Amino acid sequence: MRLDQYLSNGTELSRKEAKKVVSAGRVKVDGETCRQANRQVEAEQSVHLDGKPVNPPGDIYLMMHKPAGVLSATTDSSQPTALDLLPRGLASRVHIAGRLDKDTTGLLLLTSDGQWSHAVTSPRRECRKSYRVWLAEAIPEQACRALEKGVMLNGETTETRPAEVRVHNNQLIDLTIGEGRYHQVKRMLAAVGNRVEALHRFRIGSIELDDKLAPGEFRALTYQEIRSVT
Ligand code: URA
Repeated sequence: MRLDQYLSNGTELSRKEAKKVVSAGRVKVDGETCRQANRQVEAEQSVHLDGKPVNPPGDIYLMMHKPAGVLSATTDSSQPTALDLLPRGLASRVHIAGRLDKDTTGLLLLTSDGQWSHAVTSPRRECRKSYRVWLAEAIPEQACRALEKGVMLNGETTETRPAEVRVHNNQLIDLTIGEGRYHQVKRMLAAVGNRVEALHRFRIGSIELDDKLAPGEFRALTYQEIRSVT
């Protein structure tokens, strides 16, 4: 596909605007500035506009740094949602793959590809999610071991699946889980007698939240990031 066509498929730019950004030297193909709008580009090549990756043609795959106070819902007339942070043309084409609570910050994936989002969210696929967890109380060693082994959540009949815990200090841990039960992290910490003060998701599978994204910002996933979810 021609570079200008690739850009107009993967961004909000018209074909004419795409030609302009290419001749202005704002576009890189595989890390090299390219000023030829008619250059042929393959789906697995990387294209960056102003340093940000552009979605390969076809479906849309985005990561967003979700700020606190924003719902992970498609629409809500009274409260801001993550989709309100996208340009309208993109927002109408994507859905959220794995929600976060209103007060949780961090990595949110959005896509137009239903099969791909199923692979991210289905408990059978065990796509692991990592959270940084700030705790109200110091966490004892045996509580960490219990979280790793599996705990019974209030109102449920099966224990949580094995998790990984990394302790930064006794009130700050990373928790990695392979399921996505309702309010799972907060309920797991409640099950060991603690309380979550703040929660931030920093990884899904092998996709890490890009530290260049400020809260509220988003970017296209790279081809490698998209392919990492199988
Ligand atoms: N677990 C929670 O409790 N909240 C989230 O937002 C995500 C995981």
